[in-house]
Amino acid sequence: MVRVTCLGGAGSVTGSCYLVESVQGKRALVDCGLFQGGKQMDERNRRDWGFDPKSINTLFLTHAHIDHSGRIPKLVKDGFKGQIITSPPTAELCSIMLLDAAHIQESEAEWQTRKNKRKAHGEVQPLYTTEDAEAAIQCLRPVERDQVIEPEPGIRARLRNAGHILGSSILELWVEENLSSLKVVFSGDLGKKDQLIVRDPHEVFDADYLFLESTYGNRLHRSFEASKAELLEAIEYATAKGEKVMIPAFAVERTQEILYVLGEFHRKGRLPDIPIFLDSPLAIKATRIFRNNKKYYDKEAMAIVDQGFDPFDMPNLRFTESTQESIAINQAPGPAIVIAGNGMCTAGRIKHHLKHNLWREGSSLVIVGFQAQGTTGRRIVDGAKHVKIFGENVAVKAKVFTIGGFSAHADQGDLLEWVGHFESNPRVFLIHGESAASKTLAEKIEATHGMKTHIPRWKERLILKPKEILIEEPAEAEAPLDFQAAMLNAMVDLESEIKTLRKQIKARPIVSEEDVERLEYLKEEMKAVRESVSSNQ
Ligand SMILES: [Zn+2]
Ligand SMILES: [Zn+2]
Repeated sequence: MVRVTCLGGAGSVTGSCYLVESVQGKRALVDCGLFQGGKQMDERNRRDWGFDPKSINTLFLTHAHIDHSGRIPKLVKDGFKGQIITSPPTAELCSIMLLDAAHIQESEAEWQTRKNKRKAHGEVQPLYTTEDAEAAIQCLRPVERDQVIEPEPGIRARLRNAGHILGSSILELWVEENLSSLKVVFSGDLGKKDQLIVRDPHEVFDADYLFLESTYGNRLHRSFEASKAELLEAIEYATAKGEKVMIPAFAVERTQEILYVLGEFHRKGRLPDIPIFLDSPLAIKATRIFRNNKKYYDKEAMAIVDQGFDPFDMPNLRFTESTQESIAINQAPGPAIVIAGNGMCTAGRIKHHLKHNLWREGSSLVIVGFQAQGTTGRRIVDGAKHVKIFGENVAVKAKVFTIGGFSAHADQGDLLEWVGHFESNPRVFLIHGESAASKTLAEKIEATHGMKTHIPRWKERLILKPKEILIEEPAEAEAPLDFQAAMLNAMVDLESEIKTLRKQIKARPIVSEEDVERLEYLKEEMKAVRESVSSNQ
């Protein structure tokens, strides 16, 4: 018997975390990700773990994305002293990403504390600090994929390529029973077929139980060739008008995919001779890690290396690490391609580029990633004529290209095909998906492959036996969220902020950027409350 408790990444795409317990009392964690998406998800990050972090000796980490790794520093802060088994590139990427995440936590807490002070409220502690992240990095134990290891007696494991981002892995786990063992497979996030840079997901043939991601369980991606053509069109458009091409992109994988495609355009002589700026310190560090890990490339990327090229380089590419270099980009007139974070235009250097260029007719904005509701990126994609950036109303005159083919996730077709490799008819648990996506995929898997499926809820405990499963409801029922109280609290906040702001505007003629941003933030919170109400009714 093996018990698996779904502590995150169940019924949602963030917070991935699964506690695995054996009959012999062994415990291991699979992933330890951050919950993301508004205040209510955020609150889950601060909750009690539901287990003692000191009692865990092994944490398996499938990949570096924050929704899988972002709570590790908190786990360490709360007493975890074990080892984090992961692939070598994941360990490297995690080292830069956890420090970045700690920095974000620290500055958010500082900002909240300042805000609270004005209302005579207390200090806000960050979820974790840079020190905690550094301690977490010390626990990383890189292990090459494709070899069976036994991190502790009774638990054997093997990492397999998941083809999602550099270093991403599927986890095969064998948990010892009295005389036999049960095999549980965690897919991690799976990449799509023929994705750039990384190899296709490893085909797994047997498992007793499979935990399968379902992010795009109800969707099919657009063709990648068409996406590349659109990217080139966006570049040619702005170049002809003498304006800039803005590409908001996530630092890991998406940025390198864009560089890879630009490199390909260059080698084929199709890229206009204009400067290209990688304007994100985190993406620059990540790109260096990609360059140093050639042995994990797929054969197309290796072929480029064998011809003597760096797949992420071209003559006009500049890394702009310092703030001064970043500012200089917009001081120079004329066309250029600017890749900057963050991917949803809500923070980071991309906001400066939008402020300088979004209102300029002839510039282009290329959206290559998912834009969550409530983000600036989403508003632009939805056709807003104006957006607020640093408190200013900026007109959207740039031509917006929304390119859908750059996903790093398997779509419904890829997922069905991958599941089809299993010959052992495993019971499938659909995780890491919004409920509509998981449900659709579950139906498809049952119809196509005849496998039994189940969609676990958050905190649900599954008792896996060789031939049957038992499902334990969460120990204490999750109290329904009190939307009325949340709404009233948000309104109290808004009232007091408006009062302060009114005073300030009366006192001096110019409204400061920070004040307007504060008001914007509160409006976002109101919106998040409203969205939770409507999605739960
Ligand atoms: Zn991922
Ligand atoms: Zn994920």
